[in-house]
Amino acid sequence: MSPGVNQHAIPPRQARSLASDLLDWYAEYARDLPWRRSQDPYGIWVSEVMLQQTRVEVVAGRWQKFLDRFPDIEALAAAAEADVLAEWAGLGYYRRVRSLHRAACELVDRGVTELPRSAAELRLLPGFGAYTSGAVASIAFGERVPAVDGNVERVFARLLALDADPAKGDAKKVVHAAAVALLDRAEPADLNQALMELGATVCTPRSPGCEVCPWSGRCRARALDAAADYPRRPAPRRTEEVLCFVAVARDHAGRMLFRQRPEGGHNAGLWELPSTDFHPVASEPDPVGALANLARELERKWNVADPLTKVRHSITHHRITAVAHAVQDASGSKDGIEWIRPEEARTRGLTAATAKILDRLPTLL
Ligand code: SF4
Repeated sequence: MSPGVNQHAIPPRQARSLASDLLDWYAEYARDLPWRRSQDPYGIWVSEVMLQQTRVEVVAGRWQKFLDRFPDIEALAAAAEADVLAEWAGLGYYRRVRSLHRAACELVDRGVTELPRSAAELRLLPGFGAYTSGAVASIAFGERVPAVDGNVERVFARLLALDADPAKGDAKKVVHAAAVALLDRAEPADLNQALMELGATVCTPRSPGCEVCPWSGRCRARALDAAADYPRRPAPRRTEEVLCFVAVARDHAGRMLFRQRPEGGHNAGLWELPSTDFHPVASEPDPVGALANLARELERKWNVADPLTKVRHSITHHRITAVAHAVQDASGSKDGIEWIRPEEARTRGLTAATAKILDRLPTLL
């Protein structure tokens, strides 16, 4: 049964005491991360975008470098997208940095060079979801709004022993209400960061450190000796093994044929060696036929040779084997398909599969 919001409401006195214990713990144990020493809203925004899906240790080595190259919103907006993508290379999830750049351009187009100060206004900019707008508004501007990420969901799911997925439905509302209750008297920047820090360093997914947790005496999951059983999540979807075929066309000038992924889909805007749709491994797809279909779709003529290499990678619930075949192609460039030197294609931002294939090709071609 879904948890009722009221049933799990944290009474004000308890919320104050939880917040106070959490802030004492944070004052003593918070990691010294470079962006936490910054008062610059732009720098805080960049750190929040970098930290989505990327490990803190990796971000710690790249954040200042990005700010040195693009020190403020105006500098970021003035840069070519290709240069911004190149500075982001290796951090992955390029859609984030494209949104960061688009938001900077949008602000400069409006004639402003500062971020808006409220979560509601931030939310209107590209790339600002509920979490990022709450995090930037509370940390940079002290707005009393929650910032609920996966860490915070996990902490509250355990504290309250929520018997439903905290990312959905009523359980999500319970988590949001709990975060708001704790914010009632506490300083928002510290409180939100302390909650995230607790989830990232103590109330971790697999082995929560309940014995050193400031909330261990009041945590319902701990009392049930079942911390690792929370949060409740739906069973993961079964992964499917699929194949796709990749065309490796090269000209005499050392350029290769790349295409840009369309807007709206997976890896939108990134460049790749042209590749077919996914085919279930069990269907034993024919590479020559699949690549011929792709050539027709792209209005090109290809002679397909034997496989050069294959790489494996995963996207959501697909485990993909991408098999690269050399093809002969004598046609020119057209919209979204270009002959580009591989070094230049890397600076434009490549899909992970294409980057892996290129790493292997010099020894193969
Ligand atoms: Fe998480 Fe354990 Fe703390 Fe509960 S006591 S919030 S499960 S670390």
